[in-house]
Amino acid sequence: MNKKQIIEHLDLIALYLEIKGENPFKIAAYHRAGLALENDPRSMDEIENLSELKGIGRSTAQVITDLVTSGKSTVLQDLVKEIPSGLLPLRNLPGLGGKKIGKLYRELGITDQSSLQEACEQGKVSQLSGFGAKTEGNLLEALKEQQHRPSVLPIPYMLDLAEQIERALQSCDHVHRFSRAGSLRRAKETMKDLDFVVETSDPKQAAEDLLQKLPIHEIIGQGEAKMTVLLDDHNQVSVDFRFATAETFASMLLHFTGSKEHNVLLRRLAKERNEKISEYGIEKEDGTTKVFQNEAEVYRYFGLNFIPPQARAGRDELDRAKIGPLPLISLSNIKGDLHMHSTWSDGAHTIEEMVEAMRARGYRYACLTDHSRSLRVANGLSIERLEKQINEVSSINESNKDFTLFSGVEMDILPDGRLDYPDDILRQLDFVIASIHSSFSQDKKQIMKRLENACRNPYVRLIAHPTGRMLGKRRGYAVDVEALIALAAETGTALELNASRFRLDLSSKWLGKVQEAGVKIAIDTDSHSLKMMEDMKLGVETAIRAGIKPENVLNTWPIDQLKHFLQQKKPV
Ligand SMILES: [Zn+2]
Ligand SMILES: [Zn+2]
Repeated sequence: MNKKQIIEHLDLIALYLEIKGENPFKIAAYHRAGLALENDPRSMDEIENLSELKGIGRSTAQVITDLVTSGKSTVLQDLVKEIPSGLLPLRNLPGLGGKKIGKLYRELGITDQSSLQEACEQGKVSQLSGFGAKTEGNLLEALKEQQHRPSVLPIPYMLDLAEQIERALQSCDHVHRFSRAGSLRRAKETMKDLDFVVETSDPKQAAEDLLQKLPIHEIIGQGEAKMTVLLDDHNQVSVDFRFATAETFASMLLHFTGSKEHNVLLRRLAKERNEKISEYGIEKEDGTTKVFQNEAEVYRYFGLNFIPPQARAGRDELDRAKIGPLPLISLSNIKGDLHMHSTWSDGAHTIEEMVEAMRARGYRYACLTDHSRSLRVANGLSIERLEKQINEVSSINESNKDFTLFSGVEMDILPDGRLDYPDDILRQLDFVIASIHSSFSQDKKQIMKRLENACRNPYVRLIAHPTGRMLGKRRGYAVDVEALIALAAETGTALELNASRFRLDLSSKWLGKVQEAGVKIAIDTDSHSLKMMEDMKLGVETAIRAGIKPENVLNTWPIDQLKHFLQQKKPV
């Protein structure tokens, strides 16, 4: 268990204790212990004596030790047994935290959403001290809204489910190979359902295996060619499994990846040759069906170069693939990651651990960009600590000959537009990222003033997550993206495609315009943990949706080219 996970577990224990109505000192002890870990720059492996840390007492030290050694804690397990599991989701309702949930539980016997709704309808909740009629009305409204299952769900939610399904598929003996299909494979930001194409010689057995391994709410349909289920997740997501043989796998994958519009273009192309394309292959004029090894072979059959799934939009991609290979970025072009956090601010791992993981991905370089001093919730770096970190980075570079770690920072653009460090500090860094993490509700004029100040600073090379949106959670601040692109072009500032599945910011909708304006892009994972590094794939897929060419992405460049770019002064 890494540090971040341990802190989450400590917070969870505190939440349970609050619900239980435990003594506030005990609850505070868990919050304090979490904070103590958060503020310590070392990773869990490096902390030898927990009780030496200020804020960690004997009992919290024991819990942390249990979590580190076994991934479990008896304290937590006992609480999980004692407190009804239906209470935790109530946290997502407006105004409800551990304290209030505890009150509902202990005084009204509420154990889940439906008993809460009943109590609201009977006017019992407004009778509790600290609640009132307005709170009750808000809760009832939110509860009713939740009953309508959203018609589309955001990609971070669907990716988590897909990864769970893939683990199940991987462990099925009767499954030979499988792939994501549909909207998820095309990296759409929202989607209705999930699609998988599964190669098996025994569809019935494969289906049985899957039903065993997955949390299923309902089986909608089950046959030789296909199984549709509703998962037992919060939204009861519908999943289609299409069963293919070794011969039909490629055609099935192509067909069920879509888009519909892309398939229409392919059908038209086949028709011109008096052939028919379907999920089973290509039916020729003489009635025989041609099958394929992989999707590239299908495209080649039509005289086309390969079209990556994310570029299958049904626009002009077939015409372009006829002329030559599509000049699109691919994951193999990526040579580094320019935005990541370590335990020095709010990351889960030490600088060395992050560097090691980046190197293991085959990267040649990375840039360390911990948070700046004003972002206190993330343990942002004081000037003193930043200078110490710059030294640390250079000593890491001395012992690493085949990998370069750039020293950088993710600097807050303050609410009044000032930057969080003076220029003589920024000058010492290889790469300065600026971003907005506060006062999201400001009007467009003020937000743009902040972004303009950052762009016009000679040391700021990149604006991170330019709109601040969180997929499925919040829309971001009032940024005029077109004006920001113009500013970036004028000042030679790059814009980020933050590849985190929770952000995808800028979105593919804007990235094409960024490229057209001659503005450089950095595809960054903004990793706070090792797992988050995997989202580089999603970032690249998002860039492909926007038609981004590798040469316009900073972190595809060889290190010398990148160094040259960084050493060049901005034209501001
Ligand atoms: Zn940020
Ligand atoms: Zn960041």
